[in-house]
Amino acid sequence: MTAYPSDAPASQALLDRALAVTPGGVNSPVRAFRAVGGTPRFMVSGQGPYLTDADGREYVDLVCSWGPMILGHSHPAVLEAVQQAATRGFSFGTPSENEVALAEEIVARVEPVEQVRLVSSGTEATMSAIRLARGFTGRSLIVKFAGCYHGHVDSLLAQAGSGVATFALPDSAGVPKEMAAETIVLPYNDIPALEEVFAERGADIAAVITEASPGNMGVVPPLPGFTAALRRVTAEHGALLISDEVMTGFRCSRAGWFGLEGDAGYAAGAPDLFTFGKVMGGGFPAAAFGGRADVMAMLAPTGPVYQAGTLSGNPVATAAGLATLQHCTDDVYTRLGEVSDALTTGVGEALDAAGVPHVIQRAGSMFSVFFRDGAVTDYDTARAQDVPAFAAFFHSMLDQGVHLPPSAFESWFVSASHDDAAVDRVLAALPTAASAAAA
Ligand code: PLP
Repeated sequence: MTAYPSDAPASQALLDRALAVTPGGVNSPVRAFRAVGGTPRFMVSGQGPYLTDADGREYVDLVCSWGPMILGHSHPAVLEAVQQAATRGFSFGTPSENEVALAEEIVARVEPVEQVRLVSSGTEATMSAIRLARGFTGRSLIVKFAGCYHGHVDSLLAQAGSGVATFALPDSAGVPKEMAAETIVLPYNDIPALEEVFAERGADIAAVITEASPGNMGVVPPLPGFTAALRRVTAEHGALLISDEVMTGFRCSRAGWFGLEGDAGYAAGAPDLFTFGKVMGGGFPAAAFGGRADVMAMLAPTGPVYQAGTLSGNPVATAAGLATLQHCTDDVYTRLGEVSDALTTGVGEALDAAGVPHVIQRAGSMFSVFFRDGAVTDYDTARAQDVPAFAAFFHSMLDQGVHLPPSAFESWFVSASHDDAAVDRVLAALPTAASAAAA
């Protein structure tokens, strides 16, 4: 891979300190820039669409903390809510009103969700939803799709085995093979593979978990009919359908991907369970899982499925999440769409002009640029792209003050605070970056 010189001495100094005390110098692997090379920028502040790094350089932020910062950084109303909540106390270890209000907001937005339980991360949400599905059905197998990420849950860190109906192999050291064997990994958007697995093992399958519209292999929306097939096949076999909206929830629309896919996708019925995170925490650790009341009733203390958390429903985090959702108005979604329209058009034109093969895919305002020709429909097609071209593009954008996700397999995230000035700064950087990708 090309070696990118670091012109970020303060970030480099912080990275050197971090490397001494933290594996890889980071607290979440993708932040380490391993996929693109170079020095990750240590940020010191965020305001609206901008981040400022330790060297005092300002960037237009197209990561938005991997999704949560839908209103932009340090939104005044969210800041005010957080400050007020913090003044009243940091954590009570008792129920508090904001938890109820946040749950009410989620239930009001996503029609099939009758009840929710708050947790602190998307990983906890999916882990708990899976335990609940197993407890409810009395079955243990889980079906997931290659390229979908649901957090670092043991049984979901699995990769496809050799045949469609074979059990998965661990995708991480430390995951017992017995645990991975409880998971079946299928190609995304492949209805025959789904039907085949259910024909063979349907009576043992507790749930299918899917990203509502995948964003973790880049943005790969479900092909027409796939979501409906998931619902139909699971229902036929008495398995639950878990729609992971940690990334898409409250971002793709006010009701997440569910709101966008609408009756066309969910004509056969809504998912039984949903998982949420990111936007609903407003940048703080808050996430949730929820769905059918009869399934949720299986949770402790009403039912036998145990689930708990010292900081679940934390008063400061719920204040941030509630204020964020309350400010996610129709105008916000309109602006997100406008920003994504402008950026996808600009990226496409710049890459066309430079002769760089690419395809841009969108789910609401989430979008990805794949450096390849032809649609991406699953993990195999997502992987067949020119990753070095992306790395060159990424570094050129970074050098010009635009902070993109440091991997070719991620969604770009915009916020409602991305005004025309911020968009124009991105557009101005594109031709140079496209030329770098072409080189
Ligand atoms: N599910 C999806 C779809 C995600 O994108 C993520 C994180 O990116 C998770 C679950 C895990 O969430 P967290 O990182 O908050 O544990």
